[in-house]
Amino acid sequence: MKRIAVFGSTGSIGKQTLSVCEMHGEEFCVEAIVFGSNTELGAHQIQAFDPGIVGVFDKEAAKAVREAFPEKEVVSGNAVWDIASRESIDIVVNGVSGFSGTFPLISALRAGKTVALANKESVVCAGGLVRAAQREGGGRILPVDSEQSAIFQCLSAGKKEDVKRLILTASGGAFRDHPIEKLADVTPEMAMKHPNWSMGKKITIDSATMFNKGLEIMEAAFLFDQPGENISVLIHPQSIVHSMVEFADNSVVAQLGVPDMRLAIQYALTYPDRQPSPAAPLDLAKLAGLTFTEPDAERFPALTMAYEALRTGGSMPVAYNSGNEAAVARFVNGELRFTDVADCVRYVMDGIGAFRIDDIDALLYADQTARRLAREYRVKRFI
Ligand code: NDP
Ligand code: MG
Repeated sequence: MKRIAVFGSTGSIGKQTLSVCEMHGEEFCVEAIVFGSNTELGAHQIQAFDPGIVGVFDKEAAKAVREAFPEKEVVSGNAVWDIASRESIDIVVNGVSGFSGTFPLISALRAGKTVALANKESVVCAGGLVRAAQREGGGRILPVDSEQSAIFQCLSAGKKEDVKRLILTASGGAFRDHPIEKLADVTPEMAMKHPNWSMGKKITIDSATMFNKGLEIMEAAFLFDQPGENISVLIHPQSIVHSMVEFADNSVVAQLGVPDMRLAIQYALTYPDRQPSPAAPLDLAKLAGLTFTEPDAERFPALTMAYEALRTGGSMPVAYNSGNEAAVARFVNGELRFTDVADCVRYVMDGIGAFRIDDIDALLYADQTARRLAREYRVKRFI
């Protein structure tokens, strides 16, 4: 029986993780759930899965959960991250959204745990610290992000030294065919509708701007130890080929499946075994076709900026990620137009200054500076 901690249990990844655990109840036991403040869903999950430990980041929400479940251990505030290192946990599923996902990842790896990693912001921002935590504790990462899970599976077809290129596929998000001159008028409601995947709010907007793919370029560079020039992106609107690896002999190995995150989540939990999945089988004969095109750099400036951030390293990926997180929040609030998001991140990358991230203080400083610059953007420009 593998004992699982689900970080971000009330989110899209978290809920799907719990449904995989439910399907394989004889193999997985949900030992801990951690969420931000959604006490209504959290309470349902406590009743359904009876976890020994509950983490609720928001202190008021934690108080309410304690009152409703006095027999449970309820942890709140920053202490929730340390649940990832508890003796009673075997696998940590990291489905927290945003930069905060860095903390449970580092805590789990230091304690030698296996992490099923959906949160990409952590390895983008804190790659060096994550590696150090892995060295220190011997923990390992199994990818959950569908593209990285695909590449992880494709890599088993050859040797690392024979890898020529990683090819990330991208659906192109909600606006791949939207007239480019009308992109500025896109509303948050429009950006929150993804054509193929059902995901949390922030990643859905990131898919529309392609900042999600930019983050995945950096995530792949970290996970598979490849330079940016060996990582390319193709627009594949059907989201059936989840990503590919090209080897030295020009052979391309792909992983295919229906767009259902439970496939990648389950593979990380059962690895190296494969088991029956709640995801539907892929009926290739019913597909109208699979198409691949080069992304348009003018439409998606986020991609070029990601390669630049990856090359510079240090504070620049943090500027890219945290600048984007703050810019998306401003877009959702109606303060920025859709096309301003990339402009705002450009402003943050230009303003932050390149410096090394050697410890957690430098990381927090870079994150806070990026968010401050993103809040200043435009206001400052017009003074
Ligand atoms: P959601 O917004 O749906 O869920 C986020 C989860 O994190 C919620 O449970 C939320 O709790 C919790 N959370 C947020 N902040 C905190 C905090 N400070 N402390 C504790 N819990 C917190 O996000 P997704 O599930 O869509 O995405 C999660 C991560 O997985 C992201 O990094 C994303 O990039 C990645 N990912 C997601 C995919 C998807 O299909 N959704 C695909 C590939 C990667 P609450 O509900 O209480 O606010
Ligand atoms: Mg992905």
